[in-house]
Amino acid sequence: MSKTILELDSVTIRFGGLTAVDSVDMKIEEGTIRALIGPNGAGKSTIFNLITGIYPPTAGEIRFLGNKINGLKSHLITEMGIARTFQNIRLFGEMTVLDNVKIGTHCRTCSGFLGALVRSPKVKAEERTITETSMEALKLMELDHKADELAMNLPYGEQRRLEIARALASRPKLILLDEPAAGMNPQEKQTLMSMIRKIQAMGLTIFLVEHDMKFVMNLSDRIAVLDYGRKIAAGSPAEVQRDPAVIAAYLGK
Ligand code: ADP
Ligand code: MG
Repeated sequence: MSKTILELDSVTIRFGGLTAVDSVDMKIEEGTIRALIGPNGAGKSTIFNLITGIYPPTAGEIRFLGNKINGLKSHLITEMGIARTFQNIRLFGEMTVLDNVKIGTHCRTCSGFLGALVRSPKVKAEERTITETSMEALKLMELDHKADELAMNLPYGEQRRLEIARALASRPKLILLDEPAAGMNPQEKQTLMSMIRKIQAMGLTIFLVEHDMKFVMNLSDRIAVLDYGRKIAAGSPAEVQRDPAVIAAYLGK
């Protein structure tokens, strides 16, 4: 039987007079690929911000593996096993590819500032683990051979994959990808799609926001559709594609 990894229960957030996310329910099964689609401003990125603890919901509850996570700090949510990428690339261009990924590892047993100064054997061992984990994440995104290059020198499609590598470095169970294919050419999209499938095959759950319909329809097990903060449809790619409410939302009514 499949297990629910993430559950949104009547989740709402208001920014002043604007209800950006309005009573959204969602249930994501472990090991699946879920997409969230909808017009610009529908509230998709805000849902990711709510799940990752950037904003607390105004109402409702978010549960990860049965545990309530709304109200927790972002870093605790990361430690529990949720990682994300952002709609706009957030890399340190002047740093190496490897160092960009190391930032994503969270150190469970970090010895703190003093430990880092003294560089005890324990700290050195931790550093080795961080490097190994980061290299594994780069390998999954087929960027390990570029570990020592500066991030800004990578082609655009690889920069987006580097962001996914950084998210993977925290060893998540659930990964949220905000428009991962945006700006990519068809070949880069194809590569990304096969890598997302590979991550899924490892047992991860993927929740993605994406505008490219071909990409979404090819990749997703289930799709939820958001419009003006409300979930207007949900189902398999075939069901969602022929839903009149979805067609209306995309054609501007
Ligand atoms: P999408 O990702 O679907 O394009 P967003 O989630 O970014 O949409 O935004 C949904 C709505 O919420 C938009 O109208 C946006 O302007 C608004 N919004 C998002 N974040 C904030 C914020 N921090 N303060 C005020 N309004 C916000
Ligand atoms: Mg967005």
